[in-house]
Amino acid sequence: MPDLFSLIDRLEREHSLSEAEYQTLLENRNEALTAELRERAVRARKAVYGNTVFTRGLVEISSFCKNDCLYCGLRRSNGKAERYRLTPEDVLACCREGWELGFRTFVLQGGEDGWFTDERLTPLLRQIKAEYPTCAVTLSLGERSRESYQRLFDAGADRYLLRHETADKAHYERLHPAELSWAHRMDCLRTLKEIGYQVGCGFMVGSPGQTEKELAKDLKFVESFRPAMCGIGPFIPHKDTPFCDQPAGSVELTCYLLSILRLIQPNLLLPATTALGTLDPLGREKGILAGANVVMPNLSPVSVRKKYMLYDNKICTGEESAQCRGCLSARVASIGYELVTDRGDPR
Ligand code: SAH
Ligand code: SF4
Repeated sequence: MPDLFSLIDRLEREHSLSEAEYQTLLENRNEALTAELRERAVRARKAVYGNTVFTRGLVEISSFCKNDCLYCGLRRSNGKAERYRLTPEDVLACCREGWELGFRTFVLQGGEDGWFTDERLTPLLRQIKAEYPTCAVTLSLGERSRESYQRLFDAGADRYLLRHETADKAHYERLHPAELSWAHRMDCLRTLKEIGYQVGCGFMVGSPGQTEKELAKDLKFVESFRPAMCGIGPFIPHKDTPFCDQPAGSVELTCYLLSILRLIQPNLLLPATTALGTLDPLGREKGILAGANVVMPNLSPVSVRKKYMLYDNKICTGEESAQCRGCLSARVASIGYELVTDRGDPR
């Protein structure tokens, strides 16, 4: 058994371990290692980002989805899901409100909804950029063709979030129907990077059947892919999906992974996700204290929020956007950090 503390030393110095070494770190997780990783992750994060926390306003543009991911409440087979889509005018209104509140990044996220063609998205992107030339726009709309990604980029999209979900092909196949391919998802990520987007990948922690082996692959993938952002959050079951009876992922393991990711890539944008806050009332604070440096409060109209139910009991579905911003700002301040008005580009 290698000395685990010397592994952490090497990770901090070289920002790299072998897949087997990541697995060893994960399999031997205990309080002492957690504390050690957390301390070094916070140090690394402070060296790059100080005590600032970036924020992005999340606009959930559609709950329609043509896909059938087994874990997700928006999957097409879920006949109980309430479907809505925002009009371009609704989205612009969310951005206007967000700008007033100090958001300088807007994330347009949704299910894979065929209504949002390039012809509908490109004028919307141009208009957001015309009104707020200094903002950044992030898209999180799933898998599209290279041509589509290129058109959206040319129309002003700066960033794209597409979680790889898992870097292990066999595990991907346990989480998705056969028509969705792991290779295609990975190809999309490479394409987005080639086009010039700031790319965010990411994975669920504790998805059904996942072990330390799959998570070690995720860490090695992030190490080699070098994304601008990596979104990780615990899996949370949704009552109307095939995984309704599966246990949720763990807040502690998610935080442990956040610390490791911070040491792999000190300038990585790491959100403390809503899923963390859903499993634990202090989950997002714990995420920041483990090395995360981004929060993504909800800017969607309150009338649709309960319909964007990726998983059960999702938080922040009742408040106005201003309340969400205020609440997060206070939470961040309560642990000695500062929410800033900034595009939040990687340094
Ligand atoms: N349709 C787009 C974006 C919306 S889903 C896409 O799939 O990329 C955004 C993310 O929510 C997914 O990438 C997935 O990681 C996460 N998610 C979905 N269902 C979840 C669940 N039950 N628990 C935790 N995260 C979930
Ligand atoms: Fe659709 Fe994304 Fe949910 Fe999959 S995870 S069903 S693509 S919204």
